Amino acid sequence: MSFVRCMKCRECGREVPVRPQAICEGCFGPLELKYDYEAIGRAVRRSDLANRPASMWRYRELLPTGTDRPVGEEVGFTPLVPAPRLGKALGIRSLFLKNDAVNFPTLSFKDRVVSVALTQAREFGFKVVGCASTGNLANAVAAQGVRAGFETYILVPEDLETLKIIGTAVFGSRLIAVRGDYDQVNRLCSEIAFTYDWGLVNVNLRAFYAEGSKTQGFEIAEQLGWKLPAHVVVPMAGGALIGKVAKAFEELSRLGWVDERRVRFHGAQASGCAPITTAVKQGWDEVRPVRAHTIARSLAIGNPADGYYAMQLIRSSGGWGEDATDEELVDGIRLLAETEGIFSETAGGVTVAVARKLVAQGRIGGDGPVVLCITGNGLKTAECVASCARPTATINPRLEEFRKVVDGASGNEVETEVEAADSGREISTATDVNATPVRETLA
Ligand SMILES: *Cc1c(COP(=O)(O)O)cnc(C)c1O
Ligand SMILES: [Zn+2]
Repeated sequence: MSFVRCMKCRECGREVPVRPQAICEGCFGPLELKYDYEAIGRAVRRSDLANRPASMWRYRELLPTGTDRPVGEEVGFTPLVPAPRLGKALGIRSLFLKNDAVNFPTLSFKDRVVSVALTQAREFGFKVVGCASTGNLANAVAAQGVRAGFETYILVPEDLETLKIIGTAVFGSRLIAVRGDYDQVNRLCSEIAFTYDWGLVNVNLRAFYAEGSKTQGFEIAEQLGWKLPAHVVVPMAGGALIGKVAKAFEELSRLGWVDERRVRFHGAQASGCAPITTAVKQGWDEVRPVRAHTIARSLAIGNPADGYYAMQLIRSSGGWGEDATDEELVDGIRLLAETEGIFSETAGGVTVAVARKLVAQGRIGGDGPVVLCITGNGLKTAECVASCARPTATINPRLEEFRKVVDGASGNEVETEVEAADSGREISTATDVNATPVRETLA
């Protein structure tokens, strides 16, 4: 049973029945779903959740369709990982990582939004679904689309990371590579939505899609023992996720499932595409579109649909917006990997690098739990770290050669010249055994 009462324009307040439409006809403002929280409060108690499966659908009353047979029943409830080593390196006393790099089925937080959007698409009776994507959304729509029996059309910029292309096409979807950047792909997708009777998850189904992001917030609170954190650092592309984590915390407070607390929302972007954080820093009252140039492709949206609301939230919560250069984000990926054993994609590198800056600026650190949202998996963007993540040494299968490497590791830097006696070949291995840990290069 759905507890959604209507869709409501965020700008003029006009209410319309639930339908596949994202924009208010009166003022072109975004439509948002309105729930009946009193009815939800009567229908479910916090303690009921304990008996439900460990997936994002344990919060189904707070999601659009309310069904218990959704598309993507297994998505979500990813680990909230304590990160003491990274916390020490950054100077944060109580640090946690919300690890959507291991989300099911396609290793990013986008599995959440797609699960909700396709569940709703099925309810609306769409046979064909699609999206405009910076990569992760493409993977998620392709994988979940095929599982749910939809025909899928997926549009991406043609120069996306190879593994995001492969990780979409492998599911047999119709993958359309567009010569243009994401913002052009998105514009084309809006035209497609007007032309075909299809469910485009981040266009005409955007209001439902975005609700899926709330589940990351619900899980963070539940996994902290039904408490809200003091700070959250969220990577921003279109700016929806950060706002929906905030909405999730508000809903939980309203239901009395958590004690109210001031949560500071900090937004992270790549310096090469930072329209939202620039607006925050400059004190602008609007977000000015930019042309994206960054290796953080998943965040490369120059004209973010929810940028204005993200900026407002960051300001009103007492948080801040920061950005990280491509070099800083690669250091962030390595620092996270070297301290906590988590290999994140470029977006996670941005988040870690931005958290570092926020500590240096005295904005986060000692006053309660800090959560970093790690939203995607490093294996999809491995080429970004390929040049700095290489074997310590290459040897022949002989103990004495191995021993040289180990002995060298106790010194500072070694240059191992190994004579390959049996092959007659000389293998020259420049070994950088004790490569300076990123921890130190960053400090
Ligand atoms: C899409 C995406 C985001 C940002 O999501 P928005 O809701 O568009 O701000 C963050 N991280 C990753 C890995 C993503 O794919
Ligand atoms: Zn309106």
